[in-house]
Amino acid sequence: MLWGHRSSLDDIDLAPAPSARDIESPVTLTWFGVTTMLFDDGETQILIDGFISRPTLFQILTGQVVDNDVAKINFFLNEYRVRRLAAIIPVHSHFDHAMDIGAIGNRSSASVLGSESTAQIARGAGVPNDQIVVVEDGAKYSFGQFTITFIESAHAPVGLRGTVPIPGTIDEPLKTPAPIKAWREGGSYSLIVSHPSGTTLVQGSGGIRQSSLKDISVDVVMLGVGMIEGLGRDYVDQYWQATVTSTGATTVMPIHFDDFTKAFGTIELSPSFLDDFANTVMLLKEFRNNWDTDTQLYLPVFGEPIALYPASEPEA
Ligand SMILES: [Zn+2]
Repeated sequence: MLWGHRSSLDDIDLAPAPSARDIESPVTLTWFGVTTMLFDDGETQILIDGFISRPTLFQILTGQVVDNDVAKINFFLNEYRVRRLAAIIPVHSHFDHAMDIGAIGNRSSASVLGSESTAQIARGAGVPNDQIVVVEDGAKYSFGQFTITFIESAHAPVGLRGTVPIPGTIDEPLKTPAPIKAWREGGSYSLIVSHPSGTTLVQGSGGIRQSSLKDISVDVVMLGVGMIEGLGRDYVDQYWQATVTSTGATTVMPIHFDDFTKAFGTIELSPSFLDDFANTVMLLKEFRNNWDTDTQLYLPVFGEPIALYPASEPEA
């Protein structure tokens, strides 16, 4: 019964993100559920995460081995015209972020960047070594006009009794099929995606290190909110201040609010007892009103290119 109780997305009182179909923007961002997102400036594409295969709840709970859904991955690459991909960058190495980075890497010439664990996922999939980059804290990498800065972060402690779920590192090439517990966290990053037209912070998991972003200023925050409301009001308040108030962001979009056991393209909220997104949104609005009254909160819409840095202000 508990499993059946979830809020509807229709009950979430947030405006949809401004669509690039209506408003011009030199950079678009398209969200594909959880924290899989494509940045595109018309020349260069940067993919954050790669989670297209969606193991079912049953597969996850029973610990079965799961495999990359190559038909879905090919569909994704074609349907969303992912043909100029320069980099694939998972926020950490859990399956709901990094499961398909190797399969996508093999279907492109893109570099796969991240921790040593992320590299092991790419190696296990047979991605050529010269496409694999293990990053250092603070390192910057440029692709076309985009520059990505990696800042070591922490995974939100959303496991049992305040632990990180599926912790540790992946220490040998990860070959699929594999059980989901094979995708160990392997270190999490805050990603700063800079472009001459604007800067976005991608915060995949809500486990910010206090003050790690203190000298960073950004326009947009893609704010991972998965299960953070369960960590309490004070936690969410500090998280908001560390990611939004301190960076001066004027636009915030929550991500990782959807049930990742649903099929690719199906956006539903998680069961409320696991993660109450309606409550998360109430908290985000409250902290916005307390600290950052000029900051807009929007909800990304699956597969819809967002006008990330609109040339003119979107109409309210
Ligand atoms: Zn995770």
